[in-house]
Amino acid sequence: MLEKYAEIAGNDVVEHLRQLIKPLKGLRLVHINSTKSGGGVAEILHKMVPLMQELGIDTRWEVITGESLFYECTKGFHNAMQGNQVNLDDRHLSTYEETNRQLAASDTADLNEADVVIVHDPQPAALIHSFPERKGKWVWRCHIDASRPFRPVWRYLRDFVKGYDASVFSIAPFSQQLPHPVYLIAPSIDPLHEKNIPLPAEEIEAVYSRFDIDPERPMLLQVSRFDRFKDPVGVIRAFRIVREFIPNVQLVLAGGGASDDPEGEAVLNEVHATAANDPNIHVLLLPGDAHRTINALQRAAHIVIQKSLREGFGLTVTEAMWKNKPVIGGDTGGIRLQVLNHKTGFLVNTPEGAALRIRYLLNNPGIIQEMGDRARQFIHENFLITRHLREYLTLIFSLLNGKNDRIEVA
Ligand code: UDP
Repeated sequence: MLEKYAEIAGNDVVEHLRQLIKPLKGLRLVHINSTKSGGGVAEILHKMVPLMQELGIDTRWEVITGESLFYECTKGFHNAMQGNQVNLDDRHLSTYEETNRQLAASDTADLNEADVVIVHDPQPAALIHSFPERKGKWVWRCHIDASRPFRPVWRYLRDFVKGYDASVFSIAPFSQQLPHPVYLIAPSIDPLHEKNIPLPAEEIEAVYSRFDIDPERPMLLQVSRFDRFKDPVGVIRAFRIVREFIPNVQLVLAGGGASDDPEGEAVLNEVHATAANDPNIHVLLLPGDAHRTINALQRAAHIVIQKSLREGFGLTVTEAMWKNKPVIGGDTGGIRLQVLNHKTGFLVNTPEGAALRIRYLLNNPGIIQEMGDRARQFIHENFLITRHLREYLTLIFSLLNGKNDRIEVA
């Protein structure tokens, strides 16, 4: 499999991975998150876990699941970490802690024995308290925009997080004061994933008739879970402004749910209410494995939008840029790492700002092409899974050898 990555990322990149992996072969590593489908974390783990296995790390993926109160609580954590004022009562917090204790009690992966445990986001963060005898290194990997967390909730979560051996955030502004090393590792896409591979022209064209999209008219696309931080309603507002000037434009909002996200339905209802049966707006509810469909939609789009109000990273931005699309993205979080304003797309703060940039690009097809090509190159250089894997391996290596003055790699 590594050879295939060499074709895209280069031989030297893959050779570097082979060197790094040598001292880590046979290591027992466990990833833990809260869903196998929906959202960027699951998307990454579906590719990262088999790749680590293939390299010789004994890697497992565990998922914490719970009752609705657990998800209400963890969605509350998510919203609070991204800055909303959220009040969680004792019922929520005790359900959260109890669900974590239950996973610990039924632990099949024997977390006490694992060499490295990577716990993703707040949902399983409390697990660490059930493993006082743990032998390995535990890492808390935060994927959300934690630049301005709601303090009372962060204080509560921090009590768990401070017990870890290290934390990882996606970008510098998210990192928090913690009594252990804090690392920065940006997410990535897998160029060999069905979502990102080149597609035959017929498959791209097929999405037009399948979803009743007009192939002759410019198409704007946002792919996202139906979550208020993704601002789908703001996208519709921007679209309506654009249509006053460019009447033949059409909008596709494609999304699905995540099993750990209880708010999706309410947000979808808000989207339908705002779209008000406008035939130029296509709201597509896709199953969690519709990777090729999303791939085709991203390729069919003229411009991709990701008008988030907060964003941990925004894999949908990476995916679109990889397909040579300029992205009009919310000026926030991880989008800023990818959308270089005026170069690989535009950063915007309001529907009016988004509309202005959309109009500019639709009126300048040559610039769409130019920015899209730069976008692809930027992702190639910075956000492929090979770089992500290298950083994980380096992190693991340094955690396991941190006390040594000198580390021999080869
Ligand atoms: N995604 C999907 N189907 C959907 C919506 C999103 O497969 O209906 C994928 C999307 O292509 C991307 C990931 O889920 O790979 C979302 O990651 P992102 O970082 O953009 O946002 P998150 O959902 O993690 O906040």
